[in-house]
Amino acid sequence: MDFKKNDVLTVVIEDIGADGEGIGKVDGFTLFVKDAVIGDEVSVKIMKAKKNYAYAKLEKVLTPSPFRVEPKCAFHKQCGGCQIQAMSYERQLQFKQDKIKGNLVRIGKFEEAFIEQIMEPIVGMEEPFRYRNKAQFPVGTDKDGKPVTGFYAGRTHTIIENTDCFLGVAENKEILEIVLAYMKKEGISAYNEETGKGLVRHILIRTGFASHEIMVCLVINADRLPKEEKLVEGLLQIKNMTSISISVNKERTNVIMGKSVRTLWGSKTISDSIRICEGEDFTPTAKEITFNISPLSFYQVNPKQTEKLYSLALSYAALTGKETVWDLYCGIGTISLFLAQKAKQVYGVEIIPQAIEDARENTQNNGITNAEFFVGKAEEVLPRQYEESGIYADVIVVDPPRKGCDEVCLRTMLQMQPERIVYVSCDSATLARDLRVLCDGGYEVKKVRGVDQFGMTVHCEVCVLLSRKNARLKFI
Ligand code: SAH
Repeated sequence: MDFKKNDVLTVVIEDIGADGEGIGKVDGFTLFVKDAVIGDEVSVKIMKAKKNYAYAKLEKVLTPSPFRVEPKCAFHKQCGGCQIQAMSYERQLQFKQDKIKGNLVRIGKFEEAFIEQIMEPIVGMEEPFRYRNKAQFPVGTDKDGKPVTGFYAGRTHTIIENTDCFLGVAENKEILEIVLAYMKKEGISAYNEETGKGLVRHILIRTGFASHEIMVCLVINADRLPKEEKLVEGLLQIKNMTSISISVNKERTNVIMGKSVRTLWGSKTISDSIRICEGEDFTPTAKEITFNISPLSFYQVNPKQTEKLYSLALSYAALTGKETVWDLYCGIGTISLFLAQKAKQVYGVEIIPQAIEDARENTQNNGITNAEFFVGKAEEVLPRQYEESGIYADVIVVDPPRKGCDEVCLRTMLQMQPERIVYVSCDSATLARDLRVLCDGGYEVKKVRGVDQFGMTVHCEVCVLLSRKNARLKFI
């Protein structure tokens, strides 16, 4: 049967796509319906039709799914942030478990029965809202020319005005309002992406969940702001304000932060600590590690779940105190310092110089003496070190960005023949691709476990343990 644009159909949603969209079929024709929940019976209107499938718009929920819940945020449909807020949290976890498994089978070419056997249940969040410690709010102008902030409407650069996102901390609202009031009072313009003119581009807010310290960094399209002292004065009304800074970004790019940061008031960094947990139920131990975090450094956005994720990575690494461990894509050394507690020596590699500065400082501040760091691309530092000094690893931990590991990096890891590899991933598709390379190169997957760091969104972290199949070859 042929369907065309504007046709209205009734469909039962039977599956969930990778981006959280509902999927249903009418006479073998597949419909992708944003905002429809698995189990819903819905009326939809076709927006874009292809031969065998179409993208359709949700017109009306005829029979709600048992998994459908009332979304907390009034903007959830327009905003690109929370794709699955209308789905119960339990069902979200199931979706993520299935998504990880599906990618390992489809992309990684692992047997489904094998994955089911080794995969552990996903670690969910106790409270799936207000979990983010960091937010970057774009600043723009409303119809009347007033500065506004909020979120980009899904896949566009139109700003939806909203200062209270339920994923972020409640304090963000007040901070944003202070910045907007300062901009209005001093006549400071918002940046306009189309013309490249205007001053304030983004507002970055970071909160230490353990320390309660707050950092605000304004990204601006100039070297200075008029009356910067007034901005500081306003922000000092916020309890626990610790660091106020400016990052200059004059480039016409989608990259949010500039390359450097100038501190206007207070400390260059904020601190936060993460406890080490033990066992499968993540019992917190007395040990914690404190981190200094600068505006440009990567730091996990959900500290509560990070505690669990890192503890899992540490437990998978199974260190006894004798091991040499490489931590690739180490950021500010978060995982490295966890590993250092139980390893003989840890080496971290990270591309951002400021993050490595933070990593070195964090090492010292925590009284750790067995962690060393290298600035550079993992795929360059590792082969160079391997060729020059024949470096060795008992365990390699990787935690790459969404695009996964570089091929050269994977190849060098295989040459190094560590006993175990712990792969921490924020994208199970690239994880599956890389696991296939590692398994074809002599490793086997032993454990897989998802840790949900991003409730209400389709994203999920995964921790994987691989172990070398055969005895180590001496000369290769
Ligand atoms: N393990 C850290 C950081 C993980 S995020 C943590 O848990 O906090 C991934 C990190 O990889 C980022 O800090 C990013 O700057 C870094 N990165 C991206 N590409 C890289 C590359 N090619 N080589 C080394 N590091 C890279």
